[in-house]
Amino acid sequence: MSYNQEDQYSLCVKCGKCRSVCPVFHELNEEGASPRGKITLVQAIFDNKLEPSKRTKKFISECLLCTACVAVCPNNVQTDLLVLSAREKLADYEGNKLIETALTKFVFAKTDVSFRLASVTEQALGKKLDSESGIFYRLPTNRIVPEVRRVKFSSSRKNRYTYKTKTGFFLGCLIDFIYHDIVEDTVKLLESSGKKPYIPKDQACCGLPALSMGNVEQAAKQARAVMSLFDNTDMIVTACGSCGSMMKNYYKFLFDDAEDKKKAERFAEKVKDIVEVIDQGIFVNEGHASDLITYHDPCHLKRGMNVSKKPRMLIGEAGYKILEMKAPDRCCGLGGAFNIKHRKLSTAITKEKIDDIHSTGAAIVATGCPGCMANISAMLIEQDLNVKVVHTVNLLVKALKKNTAS
Ligand code: SF4
Ligand code: SF4
Repeated sequence: MSYNQEDQYSLCVKCGKCRSVCPVFHELNEEGASPRGKITLVQAIFDNKLEPSKRTKKFISECLLCTACVAVCPNNVQTDLLVLSAREKLADYEGNKLIETALTKFVFAKTDVSFRLASVTEQALGKKLDSESGIFYRLPTNRIVPEVRRVKFSSSRKNRYTYKTKTGFFLGCLIDFIYHDIVEDTVKLLESSGKKPYIPKDQACCGLPALSMGNVEQAAKQARAVMSLFDNTDMIVTACGSCGSMMKNYYKFLFDDAEDKKKAERFAEKVKDIVEVIDQGIFVNEGHASDLITYHDPCHLKRGMNVSKKPRMLIGEAGYKILEMKAPDRCCGLGGAFNIKHRKLSTAITKEKIDDIHSTGAAIVATGCPGCMANISAMLIEQDLNVKVVHTVNLLVKALKKNTAS
C-alpha cells in the first residue's frame, strides 16, 4: 500500500483507550487481539524485528476493519490502514493455509465468478428458506446464505439506466447479485430527488475483499476499472457503506503513481451514500409510527463515510419511530473474509448484535449496508426470531409523496 506505516504507529502512545471498543478484544481478551497489540505487531513486522509466523498472521487477520478503535483514539491512529498494510506484507507468507490462498487469489479476486458459482451451488445443494427479508438457503454445512441471482442487475434486461448521466450509481457485488430491490428503490429515490441515475453495464467488484485479504495489486486493478466506469459523472452514488468507504477512503492508498493517486482522490470526493443525496420534503408521514424500527449503523457507513444522523432523520421524516439499540454502531461481526476465517468469533460478535436488536422490541431492522443485512438476517432466521431486515431505501420508498414517486 502506498502509505507510510511509520508515521502512524509512532503516534500510538499505548494508552489502551481503543481496547474498550474493539469487538474482537472484547471476545478474546488478549493483548495481541487488541488494536494496541496489533499496532505493536505491525511495528515489529515493518521494523523487521519479527519474522512472519502463523501466530502473527492470526492476530493480524483477527480484525473486522470496523474502525471503532480509530474513532476513539486521541491521536487518530489509523489501525485499519496499519492492519491492511501488514496483511499485504504477510500475504505471501509460506505458512498460508490452502483456504487462505484460495480466498486471496481466487474467491475475492474474481468475485463475478465466485458469485455465479455460489448461485449454482446453493440452488443445487441448499434448502430454500423463505423469510420476510427475502429468500435464503441453508447449505449442507448448516450455513444460511441469501439467494444469489444467476444474472446480476447491471448486466440484466432490468438495467434501463445505461444512458450516461451525471449521477452514476455503483451497485457493488451484493446489491448487483442479490438485492435487486435496493437498486429499484434507490433509483426511485434518486428520481424523486430530481436525479437521473446512470448504472453502467457489467459493473464489477470495488476491490475491498481483495484489499482486506492483502491482495493490493488486485484491489488496484479493480479500483481502476470502477473509476473508469464513471468518467464524466459529477457524483457516484452507492447504497453499500462498505463499497462507499472503500472508494472514498482506501482507493488513494492503492497507487504509488502520483497521477493515479490524484485521480483516486478526485474520485473519492464524488462518492456519496444514497441518503446524503436524497432531498428532504419528498416524504409524506402517513403514520408508520406503529412499525417499530431499530437502525443498525454499518461501521463503514458511520465511521467510513460519516453518515449516521441523516438516515435517522429521513426515517423519522417518513413517519417511522426508531427504537435505538444500546450500541447501534457496534459491528455486526461480518467483516468480509473475517466471517469465513474466524467463524466462531464472528458468530459470537453477531450474537451480541442480535441480542441488542431483540431487546429493543423492534419488528424491523433498517440499515445501509447489504453485507450487514445478509449477516444479521441469517442469524435472525437461525434463532427463529420474527424480525425483518430492510435497507433504509426500502423503508423510505414506501413513504414517498405520490407526486414525487415515479
Ligand atoms: S491506538 Fe490510539 S487509543 Fe489505542 S493505544 Fe494507541 S494511542 Fe491509545
Ligand atoms: S478495526 Fe475494529 S476489530 Fe480491528 S482492531 Fe479496530 S476495533 Fe478491533
